[in-house]
Amino acid sequence: MKKKLRFNSRVIHGGQSIEKGYGAVIPPIYQTSTYAQTSPGNHKGYEYSRTHNPTRTALENSLASIESGRHGLVFASGLAAMDAILKLLNSGDEIIASNDLYGGSFRLLTKIFNKFKFKSHFLDLRNINELKSKINNRTKLIWVETPTNPMMNIIDIKAIRSIVREKKIILAVDNTFASPYLQNPLLLGADIVMHSATKYIAGHSDVILGAIIVNSDDLAEKLAFIQNASGAVPGPMDCFLTLRGIKTLSVRMERHCYNGKKIAQFLNKHPRIDKVFWPGFRSNPNYNIAKQQMKDFGAMISFIPKEANYKDSIKIIKKLNIFTLAESLGGVESLSGHPASMTHASIPKEIREKSGVLDSLIRLSIGIEDEKDLIDDLKQALNK
Ligand SMILES: *Cc1c(COP(=O)(O)O)cnc(C)c1O
Repeated sequence: MKKKLRFNSRVIHGGQSIEKGYGAVIPPIYQTSTYAQTSPGNHKGYEYSRTHNPTRTALENSLASIESGRHGLVFASGLAAMDAILKLLNSGDEIIASNDLYGGSFRLLTKIFNKFKFKSHFLDLRNINELKSKINNRTKLIWVETPTNPMMNIIDIKAIRSIVREKKIILAVDNTFASPYLQNPLLLGADIVMHSATKYIAGHSDVILGAIIVNSDDLAEKLAFIQNASGAVPGPMDCFLTLRGIKTLSVRMERHCYNGKKIAQFLNKHPRIDKVFWPGFRSNPNYNIAKQQMKDFGAMISFIPKEANYKDSIKIIKKLNIFTLAESLGGVESLSGHPASMTHASIPKEIREKSGVLDSLIRLSIGIEDEKDLIDDLKQALNK
């Protein structure tokens, strides 16, 4: 057997093989819906592209490799991947999720799956005792996002695993914010890793795609059944773009983290800023867990200007030139966002404010530009 490569090599070679037809080094875009059979059931492993497609297989194998899992499955979006995971459950089952999570995930749980009698509880999952008290025999899924969005809290995956070890509860981690470069939840005891590959994995803001990686053959089989039966699959072109993005995941993440640190430090010293949310500060209560479970601290930063209201923060965002105001994150270009009115608008104000998502909160996704230009841009925008 081939020796398992290190992460920086796996992003290039993991799960990949040279194409059989012409020796293409990069998996071709198999833009086909169906495959010839010589007699019914006699084919080369592919029948219909909702079920399988060779470009998709190449991506699924790459994702399994970089998350250190046995099986990868891809979907038309991150939320389609989450939707497939939720379909493992039955009506009457209960879900416990982080209270500080992606607005679309909250909406899927509360506006779609509640109709089917799924009950979701939203907790601060850093509080293990509170989590313990909420678990009952109907609890079937714990949904963790770490770092959380947009408050950048760190949830201890191993600690949660240790309390649900004996129970038949699935521990799923939305690893979008960390990316497989910074954190591998399966190695920390999670059963399922989910990604919006739209973000860091694809990395170039040109594709919408979701992913699930698991170790268990049983879970993989059930999820593949749902993937085919519900049909939210990505096309081969999107799989190709995502594979292309993965090749540079390591070098992009290194640069993202370098810039992230410089900008977090700059903001932290700025007289106009009240609070900066980034797990890499030693004073951050999440620092030790971040250090244990992540390779570095990432490039997602939120902050609150001093004595700012909604209007003040919007003014700062509008003055930014390099940072583009846009939904999404994890691309090579820097983006700014206003969670309360954008990514988290579907969460009711009282719930969102409880987890710290105030009207004055600004979120930055730090890209891979020259950090001095990014700092200059923030400096002029913060000037009163
Ligand atoms: C964007 C995002 C999602 C949803 O993914 P889509 O690809 O937009 O469907 C889920 N979780 C997190 C943390 C995200 O940032």
